[in-house]
Amino acid sequence: MADFSVRHSLADLEEYEVETIDADIVVNANESNYPLPAVVRQDIAARMQDFSYNRYPPMKCETLCALLAEQLGIDTDKVRVGNGSSELLQMACYAFGGAGRKIAVPYPSFSMYGVYAQMSDSEVLHYSLTVDGYLDADAVLRFCRDEQPDLLILNNPNNPTGNYNPLPVVEAIIAGAGCPVIVDEAYMEFAKGDGVDPRDLRPLGQLKLVAGSALALLHKYSNFLVYRTFSKAYSMAGLRVGYAVGSSLMTKILGKTLLPYHVNGYSLLCAMACLTHRDAFAPQIGEIRDQRDLMAQNLEDMGMQVWPSQTNFLCYRPAGRLQELLARAYDQKYGPNNLSQPSKAGKYLFKALLEDKILLRDFTEHPALPGCLRQSVGLPGENAVVLGKLRALCRAIVGNEEI
Ligand code: PMP
Repeated sequence: MADFSVRHSLADLEEYEVETIDADIVVNANESNYPLPAVVRQDIAARMQDFSYNRYPPMKCETLCALLAEQLGIDTDKVRVGNGSSELLQMACYAFGGAGRKIAVPYPSFSMYGVYAQMSDSEVLHYSLTVDGYLDADAVLRFCRDEQPDLLILNNPNNPTGNYNPLPVVEAIIAGAGCPVIVDEAYMEFAKGDGVDPRDLRPLGQLKLVAGSALALLHKYSNFLVYRTFSKAYSMAGLRVGYAVGSSLMTKILGKTLLPYHVNGYSLLCAMACLTHRDAFAPQIGEIRDQRDLMAQNLEDMGMQVWPSQTNFLCYRPAGRLQELLARAYDQKYGPNNLSQPSKAGKYLFKALLEDKILLRDFTEHPALPGCLRQSVGLPGENAVVLGKLRALCRAIVGNEEI
């Protein structure tokens, strides 16, 4: 076989792989476990009656852009739709980064930011979040002054920690960064900003106060894009639709990198149906928030350290005495190895749940989050089963000992 050489920036990049694991309760990928509401499914079926399979879809997703713009009360040219927000993240790296340019990404956060930046030949810079996973505006601005990135990515609320950063913090960074900023709000629908609910997408001019989303800053700054997705709150991860909202200057630059017809017609049609009936999602979004808070309380009661989450997932790890005992149980069951105590404790739980066909996301060996598990909020019945198993596992290890 010929020894192909690849671009320098790709040489040490591995293709993204997620092992396919058969499970009965799947809470590892922050998807929605709720099906599309019946009214949305009916609307999709009706719209499909005269679907033009033989035609290309709208070249730049114009129809969906127009509906989003109408709901936001802004001009259509301020919105771009993508094949999942992933495509728009990747393309922003191509548009604003490139060889000899730098992209700053948060750490610990969504690992794909660094991958997309690397794919685009950009130099990847990591700026640190606080130990609790929050943005420190002063530290980020200092970082930008010292490193002069060409693009800065923020994730609010942050994956995998779940933290929500108040709007003034995000605004301070946008105002002072001195470069284009992406505010990835993939999980914002689950957050509860102070003041107005961030799910409220009445025309911005009609809102007296929007505390949750950087969408509220659209009329104030032109150097940023807000990213949203239909994959989480809108139960459409399988259809791959996301969107970016920002100044026409920013969307125009992003648009230079997008292929014509990059989102398929069926996905666009489904997203139109979702938006048309967006109120139908409110009950399930509300239930996810309530379940999340209940689960966090239950996990703390078991002896877990739980990150404060405003998303549809929780990040947690066994702490204190529970951690010690679980790590010891891990050694007994799997034999000693070089993993740290927190990692062993978290892994013991991860593996035990997997034996029961419950799939969480394993962050136990993440350098900044040792021992952590990430669990999406599933349906109430699923959450109860997972919590019940965790409680039983912890009780079996701890016995009657106080933790
Ligand atoms: N941003 C964040 C923070 C995410 O967690 C994800 C998905 N895990 C995405 C973006 C990508 O979402 P999608 O491509 O499905 O819109």
